[in-house]
Amino acid sequence: MPPHPQTWLKTTPQGLYCVPGDFHIDPTRAVPRAVISHGHSDHARPGHAHVLATRETLAIMQTRMGAERAGGTLQTLPYHEPLLINDVTVTLIPAGHVLGAAQILMEYLGARAVVSGDYKRQPDPTCAPFEPIPCDVFVTEATFGLPVFRHPDARDEIRRLLASVALFPERTHVVGAYALGKCQRVIATLREVGYDAPIYLHGAHMAVCETYRALGVELGDIRPATVAAKAELKGAIVLAPPSAIADRWARRLEDPVVCMASGWMRIRQRAKAGGIELPLIISDHADWDDLLRTIRDTQAPEIWVTHGAEEALIHAATRMQIRARALSLVGYGEEE
Ligand SMILES: [Zn+2]
Ligand SMILES: [Zn+2]
Repeated sequence: MPPHPQTWLKTTPQGLYCVPGDFHIDPTRAVPRAVISHGHSDHARPGHAHVLATRETLAIMQTRMGAERAGGTLQTLPYHEPLLINDVTVTLIPAGHVLGAAQILMEYLGARAVVSGDYKRQPDPTCAPFEPIPCDVFVTEATFGLPVFRHPDARDEIRRLLASVALFPERTHVVGAYALGKCQRVIATLREVGYDAPIYLHGAHMAVCETYRALGVELGDIRPATVAAKAELKGAIVLAPPSAIADRWARRLEDPVVCMASGWMRIRQRAKAGGIELPLIISDHADWDDLLRTIRDTQAPEIWVTHGAEEALIHAATRMQIRARALSLVGYGEEE
């Protein structure tokens, strides 16, 4: 009998720990050996002695935290290439979340566990699509783990943005988007639906966009918004961190239409409270239907649920005859 993953995958104060491999996954505190699923700040923390991740994730970590803080030694592992770490074979599988994002497949004495990290099933021109991997235990996120969360096609949301730009040619559309992943996906989706005008960026967004470009992701004509003349931004699209869209920075723009690209925009009150005139439901996390579909696709008889709305997902899995439990890991949540 292969050993059940609960006997060799443990929760510790630093996060999930693989005992026979002697490494942590996305640890929330500095550890000797870390395997990192993706570059978001709640998963990729500074100061580990040794870090294993995809080339893209390591590049993103170095951009965001500086080469020294990204880790003592950095080891690249391409997707689909098995690596033996002590007694465990580790393989990184695309998670479809942001550039470089990986699910972590661990095989030990015939038992298989997959830690999803964050993931989505919708198409994203900036990263490799999620691949379901059959396993004994699937460790899933549950950011949007409630039936109310259903994400429409991102291209349709982007077309709504362009319809508004056409309707208000004198106004600047300022779109709140997280710096890693969402920003580049919004840009690439705009290009996908045929928008080829320059896209302007808040200073906080430039560095990660440059890293994406260096890693081969096409973003077209992107320019810093800070140095651009106000008049030039009339009728233009400007991307900024969510924290910047409501403050003085955004008010400097010409009669801005404040937009926000987020799965949370499904909740109208949340958009209203944030002063969002044009909410765009664009998320890099699986929605309710895709969480359930993914659990089914992995054929896992058991799931562990990490961060998000665990309870509804556990209930739904149980009704699908799948064993389910909450991992209650702390320190994960929304980016920044
Ligand atoms: Zn993430
Ligand atoms: Zn996360």
